[in-house]
Amino acid sequence: MTVTKVENPWVAKADAVAHSVLARHANDVDDMGRWPAESVAALGEAGLLGLTVPAALGGAGAGPTTFTAVTSALAAQCASTAMIYLMHVCATQVMVRAPSFPLREGLLKRIATGRHLGTLAFSEKGSRSHFWAPVSQVVLEGDRHLLSADKSWVTSAGHADIYIINTRASRAVELTDSTLYYVPGDTPGMSISGDFNGMGLRGNGSAPMRLEKVAVPTSHRVCDDGAGFPLMMEAVLPWFQVGSAAVSLGIARAATAGIRQHLLASKLEHLHQPLASLMNLRARLAQMQIAVDTHAAFLADISHRMEEGDPNVLLAVLESKAAAAEMALQVTDLAMRTGGGACFSRHLSVERNFRDARASAVMAPTTDVLHDFIGKALLDMPLF
Ligand SMILES: Cc1cc2nc3c(=O)[nH]c(=O)nc-3n(C[C@H](O)[C@H](O)[C@H](O)COP(=O)(O)OP(=O)(O)OC[C@H]3O[C@@H](n4cnc5c(N)ncnc54)[C@H](O)[C@@H]3O)c2cc1C
Repeated sequence: MTVTKVENPWVAKADAVAHSVLARHANDVDDMGRWPAESVAALGEAGLLGLTVPAALGGAGAGPTTFTAVTSALAAQCASTAMIYLMHVCATQVMVRAPSFPLREGLLKRIATGRHLGTLAFSEKGSRSHFWAPVSQVVLEGDRHLLSADKSWVTSAGHADIYIINTRASRAVELTDSTLYYVPGDTPGMSISGDFNGMGLRGNGSAPMRLEKVAVPTSHRVCDDGAGFPLMMEAVLPWFQVGSAAVSLGIARAATAGIRQHLLASKLEHLHQPLASLMNLRARLAQMQIAVDTHAAFLADISHRMEEGDPNVLLAVLESKAAAAEMALQVTDLAMRTGGGACFSRHLSVERNFRDARASAVMAPTTDVLHDFIGKALLDMPLF
């Protein structure tokens, strides 16, 4: 019996945009450390910014399976754009899962038009990668909510239209008593407070931002006061975890393809042979491909289980980002060694893949923290 694989039209569309637009600008974006405006605009035009917005609000209503495949396809051509996309989808998901948020429908409809970009401003200078415990705290003055915070990394800083910000709740007792707010990009009091000059994902624009008595009305509060932590855990954590894994997977896939091409195209002229004639290099390529294929299957399974609402998927969701981040570090390291000087001297995009792959492990929850969470989950201990 022949099994015909049905191609997902959104993944095909993402792949086409990735090859025609993202790939064209990826090296320049990396060299200049510039935000990929053309690529993000192309995602909007293709309808991909509204991918996970419910169909009733004008989006594609896609679930995690399509989302991870799309994100991985983008990351294979430009990981900076894929990470911008991931933060956008996480901001979207916060609103999707906040039924009491008064501006929910209007904002999601705007996102579905493809002309509005979202991001998360969670990490703070004070609590670093422990984004679940902001040190900033909202101050209430009647209907005005005053937000003051030093956000340490905000992807698409200065470019996003929609910032989802977490801050300590006004009546917080526990470290995790936080509230999420929507802050439009042009709100007075919000500024970029430093540069982003990363070793990888150089097009991300992940600069620090300062909020100084940024005043928003109650309608901009995404959840009830103090209900930010469960919303982050329910809406952001799963999508960020599998999306980050998809970025790592795309990067590793690109490095593998780059090395394959290099082994075929480069010659040992004195021996009248291609570089592919060296058995150890072929074996390394095989190791890379096995790692990529294994993790692709793992991620597809987790995404499918999330989509089906499997109540036992949390452990695998926690594993997904940590596993894919480690895999991408190993695969890109192997790629660098396999490519020799051609990789070291930046002839190939493999060197960019190597640098881009390093971000995931330090993005919160970091791999260290995830290993601790996974260990606790296995031992029936509370994560926080
Ligand atoms: C490219 C990029 C884009 C980003 N974009 C965003 C964004 O859009 N929005 C946002 O909110 N944040 C963003 N971040 C921030 C990110 O999520 C982390 O908060 C940040 O990378 C943490 O860096 P740090 O130096 O503060 O780490 P630290 O918290 O100082 O960690 C230092 C080391 O300690 C380890 N460590 C920390 N806590 C524990 C623990 N409990 N147990 C064991 N080990 C631990 C870490 O794993 C790490 O190795 C981004 C980061 C990067 C690199």
